[in-house]
Amino acid sequence: MRIERPRGTRDFLPDEMERRRAIENLMRRIAESFGYREVATPTFEHLELFTLKSGEGIVEEIYAFKDKSGRDLALRPELTAPVMRMFVNECSVMPRPLRFYYFANCFRYERPQKGRYREFWQFGVELIGSDRPESDAEVIYLAYKILKALRVRFTLHVGHVGLLRSVLRDVGEKDRAMRLIDKKDWKGLEELLKAEGKQHLLDVVLQLSEAESVEEAREIYPDFDYSHVERVAEILESLGVEFRLDFGIARGLDYYTGVVFEMYAEGLGAQKQVCGGGSYRLAKLFGGEDVPSTGFAIGFDRVAEVCEVEVERPKVAIVVGFGDHKRAMKVAEIIREAGVAAVVDVMGRNVKKQLSFANSINADYAVFAGEEFDRGVVTVKDLRSGEQREVKVQELNELFG
Ligand code: ATP
Ligand code: MG
Repeated sequence: MRIERPRGTRDFLPDEMERRRAIENLMRRIAESFGYREVATPTFEHLELFTLKSGEGIVEEIYAFKDKSGRDLALRPELTAPVMRMFVNECSVMPRPLRFYYFANCFRYERPQKGRYREFWQFGVELIGSDRPESDAEVIYLAYKILKALRVRFTLHVGHVGLLRSVLRDVGEKDRAMRLIDKKDWKGLEELLKAEGKQHLLDVVLQLSEAESVEEAREIYPDFDYSHVERVAEILESLGVEFRLDFGIARGLDYYTGVVFEMYAEGLGAQKQVCGGGSYRLAKLFGGEDVPSTGFAIGFDRVAEVCEVEVERPKVAIVVGFGDHKRAMKVAEIIREAGVAAVVDVMGRNVKKQLSFANSINADYAVFAGEEFDRGVVTVKDLRSGEQREVKVQELNELFG
């Protein structure tokens, strides 16, 4: 019986994995160059961790289940809440600010479609301990630098959720309104506002989401302190970052409190958001002090779809045995020590078939493990150039170096 993989999940073959690792390594390198260090949290958490801020409604959208003792658990839909839980439990006395990054799989019970999976990967960071514009700017710049290095063509939008929250402050269903704005569901928003007798706010929201500068926004809605977002914009400009101010960004998850940003990539169709982030306060909700943080999450699978990265394929040598498997294995060990992958025959093939297999897997070398090995030499054929010569075993190092 053939068993299919579950809906919304993916398999990755070696070529794709090599490409994904190359992308991942570049992301790690850049985050580390800013002083961020990797953390990891469990794949599942207490369901409460995710309902505490987002409400029971989120249960519909995630993989929630009871374990054998009846505890309510959930596969993580994202990593900001888990990392902040870890911070409160384990890191609250560490010197601040803390700079953490993660690369991990996340699970959401969403309708599968192109760019939207039920298991997907996020690369993200959390900068914990500051609510100053400098830290918002650093986190935005880091995300920007990663996508630039991967040659993704994207636009960066920067806003502040405080503005929309202030506009909607007297609306009862504020969180639902923010979610409708996030999905640009203007019809739904109109109905919600009408039901509360506040339809005049629709125009304010629409105008703000079209404003492209602080001056414009200030004219539409003067009753807000724009200085923080202005300072972030100033820093980004000084770094040569291209971005657009966008006060219509609401973000789906409702834990953001300050500056928010999103990046949209070309070439992805409807699911084009490749990064989302902003500043928030979750530590207190999880039982810690009220420590401010800023973070982002990059949608790794969507980025992998459109980015350009150089994949360095490790060199591979086929050890051609002549019926003496033990000798072939000895030669293979020496090649591995020299830093090249060595593959020995396990199919009982003759020399011709071993060579044709070497060709079919695109090996770089064929190393013949003949009787001459007992004299300390092997014959090496460079399968790219066709050049073949005898090499002293001690010199394999230099040859492959
Ligand atoms: P979207 O707006 O696409 O629904 P989101 O705003 O809920 O995503 P975040 O929670 O901010 O997403 O997650 C950060 C990034 O993770 C997104 O920008 C997106 O690139 C990626 N992402 C989110 N959900 C999925 C999914 N189901 N499959 C693949 N990537 C996803
Ligand atoms: Mg979104």
